[in-house]
Amino acid sequence: MLDTSNQPTLPPEIARRRTFAIISHPDAGKTTLTEKFLLYGGAIQMAGQVRAKGEARRTRSDFMQMEKDRGISVSASAMSFDYGDFRFNLVDTPGHSDFSEDTYRTLTAVDAAVMVIDGAKGVESQTQKLFEVCRLRDLPILTFCNKMDRESRDTFEIIDEIQEMLAIDVTPAAWPIGVGRDFIGCYDMLRDRLELMDRADRNKVAESIQINGLDDPKLAEHVPAELLDKLLEEVEMARELLPKLDPQAVLEGHMTPIWFGSAINSFGVKELMEGIGAYGPQPQVQSAEPRQIAPDEKKVAGFVFKVQANMDPKHRDRVAFVRMASGHFKRGMKLTHVRSKKPMAISNPVLFLASDRELAEEAWAGDIIGIPNHGQLRIGDTLTEGEAIRVTGIPSFAPELLQTVRAGDPMKAKHLEKALMQFAEEGAAKVFKPSIGSGFIVGVVGALQFEVLASRIEMEYGLPVRFEASQFTSARWVSGDKPEVDKFVNANKQHIAHDHDGDIVYLTRLQWDIDRVVRDYPALNLTATKEMM
Ligand code: GDP
Repeated sequence: MLDTSNQPTLPPEIARRRTFAIISHPDAGKTTLTEKFLLYGGAIQMAGQVRAKGEARRTRSDFMQMEKDRGISVSASAMSFDYGDFRFNLVDTPGHSDFSEDTYRTLTAVDAAVMVIDGAKGVESQTQKLFEVCRLRDLPILTFCNKMDRESRDTFEIIDEIQEMLAIDVTPAAWPIGVGRDFIGCYDMLRDRLELMDRADRNKVAESIQINGLDDPKLAEHVPAELLDKLLEEVEMARELLPKLDPQAVLEGHMTPIWFGSAINSFGVKELMEGIGAYGPQPQVQSAEPRQIAPDEKKVAGFVFKVQANMDPKHRDRVAFVRMASGHFKRGMKLTHVRSKKPMAISNPVLFLASDRELAEEAWAGDIIGIPNHGQLRIGDTLTEGEAIRVTGIPSFAPELLQTVRAGDPMKAKHLEKALMQFAEEGAAKVFKPSIGSGFIVGVVGALQFEVLASRIEMEYGLPVRFEASQFTSARWVSGDKPEVDKFVNANKQHIAHDHDGDIVYLTRLQWDIDRVVRDYPALNLTATKEMM
């Protein structure tokens, strides 16, 4: 079912790729759904393994004690699997709101998002926030309403809530039959099929039953009379009142098809996967300077959207996650690292086939590969076959929380600097070196990140550290003509610091100060975001 009639014609290997992330509020079922995707993708033998955090599994995604303790996923990882005609690349987004910057960058590497909501709770705060991020990029969204095996809200009410809270058209791809204990499955609105849930075996899915329209007597053989009346009435109403599926509107991000299911019972998951295949976007054109990159260009290009340390605790290596933007990559290729203009032989790239890391022999536009390295690759870097193109749109945000950091042992200040630089390059924190005084100021978006940093510095560098309140609460990058910048820097020495790239930053605790600078130095730019490059 490779229906790409409304998308540009790409070579089949590229056209079959679907690169997406899951967005949801914690507890809606993202992990469970991921497990089932992988199960059907043949990547793991049995559901439950994604969660198994035994020693053997630690290399994969959850490696920090803290993650285990808190049950949050601090690190994002990418997983690839095949289903039907499609190759799916699922990029995991950290669910906790403290990691929104990381999440934002992850969403620059995907072409679509699957939004998971809990059928009893509807659109929750984190769903809404993540949705807004997707909207900034007009990402196509496919919706999965989960936990239908439990008491859930009225179907029309759920759809209305999504339409109203998120201002997007919703079209039902399936219609649930019965609620809670009486939930028996769905009517597939797009293919006139009956999908029934197997309550006896959570990993099994019952065969679908082809139905010849709503007046087919076969319906009554499978659906109890009291549920059937309601179903017929609701489907009729839905067809009258709700918009019809418009594949183009889905691709443009104006409409989301919704499936109903129960991830834990494996129900609705295959239909969702088929839906991502049929209505999800192919690898998209990537914005870059001085020109865009099209997925079907012959030459290989890709960009780093995430850097992750210690995937393997035995080695202090880092893995740069690269989204391939074009071409057909083969292992061993020499690519140009555009920022440094140096060639890099990519000899041991990794594909994250859910079960474990694996050497990637090849990759196509849309794929995500991991490149182990010792720090050369940073977020925002572009790799090409020589052309000086730079992928754009991967932002770095001004931190909202600032603290000073000190090593427990003052003799270890150099070690601390090295650790902090590593985290800054990974994008895990902003690190500012004030121009007056010693020590560092660390900036993050969410308070939990301080704890993560402290525990990582201790684990990876054997260095106990203390975070303390800083006199500053805001940071802005400063740019403009050199004389003007110099004048400003000289007049505001106590407020000036440099970030890990050496860029000038203005630190303050008052919005009033920022307003004053804007007024007094009209030729200067103070910005709260900076492009990673
Ligand atoms: P995440 O925080 O979004 O990753 O959510 P999880 O996948 O960890 O699920 C949260 C909880 O909901 C877990 O206890 C799951 O077992 C449970 N859960 C997930 N899917 C379903 C479902 O379809 N039905 C029911 N009843 N529980 C579910």
